[in-house]
Amino acid sequence: MSSPRLTVDLRAIENNTRVLVQQLSARSIGVAGVTKSTLGSPGVAAAMLRGGATGLADSRVENLNRLSTDTRSEQVARADRMLIRTPALSQVDQVVRVAHRSLNASLPVLAALDAAAARAQVIHRVILMVELGDLREGVPPEQLTYLATATRALKHLRLDGIGANLACQNGIVPDDRNMGQLTRWIERLETRLGVQIPTVSGGNSASVQWAMTATDTGRVTELRLGEAILLGTEPSHRTPLPGLHTHACRLTAELIEVGVKPLRPWGTRAQTAEGLPSPDRAPGAGTRRQAIVALGRQDTNPDGLRPPAGITIVGMSSDHLLIDLGDHRLTVGDHVTFGLNYSSLVRAMTSPFIVQHEELSSAPAPC
Ligand SMILES: *Cc1c(COP(=O)(O)O)cnc(C)c1O
Repeated sequence: MSSPRLTVDLRAIENNTRVLVQQLSARSIGVAGVTKSTLGSPGVAAAMLRGGATGLADSRVENLNRLSTDTRSEQVARADRMLIRTPALSQVDQVVRVAHRSLNASLPVLAALDAAAARAQVIHRVILMVELGDLREGVPPEQLTYLATATRALKHLRLDGIGANLACQNGIVPDDRNMGQLTRWIERLETRLGVQIPTVSGGNSASVQWAMTATDTGRVTELRLGEAILLGTEPSHRTPLPGLHTHACRLTAELIEVGVKPLRPWGTRAQTAEGLPSPDRAPGAGTRRQAIVALGRQDTNPDGLRPPAGITIVGMSSDHLLIDLGDHRLTVGDHVTFGLNYSSLVRAMTSPFIVQHEELSSAPAPC
């Protein structure tokens, strides 16, 4: 099989989705499956839908287009698709074609979306994002009434709901305080406008633990989940979530050189290929069995790779990953498989050198 290759276990993705859907449905919260870290893979999307996701979400128009034109799965092509990054003004015509709804926070974009929806003769649904403290997308709560009123005045848009996003920019954790505020602002908006807000898109994978444990999840009706489904972890502390597979995505690459090397380099030392100061000298003068894996910073983020037990990562430049083999008896031509964190996964997915392989295992890898 060609390498390096990124293997995505679709059965594990389906199982992870099912577990999350079941746990959250007990709190009346649905799951939108976020496909962006897989470049809008229709196979991953189909697995999420089989697991019970009520719709699909992606931050890129190109990925949503890939999903909307998928011919292998009726279910994928027909699923509700949400753009979870504010539409670019230059892309509004594509947005209304490939997305049924989108997250929004600015009036010029809403006006352009309305005009695009009119041209395409569709009604586009809008979720207005409100700032809860992470300081990425969203308007201050004081502007919500104004923006909601303006949206409702646009004939080809429908105000579907209110949304919020935490954790991504500043690592702000969803808790009873910020999520409670969200519910109070929504209720105030409903009173002022005399309308019901049907959808509250309350957050990403960082909200799973809050949603499972809060005494009151307020008005939240939906979470947008990528990492929790794909990696089985929550993004605030990267701890595994109960009952989820954490090896659904794996990166396999080939050893191209194996040998015994001294721990200490010699000669005059200056910057490394990455522009870093040369690493501290290892204490002692021993040796290690070092291997070079045909994988580099061009392909992934080395800091998020999890090697098999007994193997440690020594360093990585653009095309060489150095590992200490410990007691493993591996040789040139053998392969090593790594687990990945979110950053490594996203980088690996976008490397043109990595082959993507989706498999339907009969029994998913153990949690
Ligand atoms: C990426 C993203 C998500 C999904 O985040 P995960 O941590 O992968 O669950 C949800 N909402 C928005 C707005 C995003 O940008």
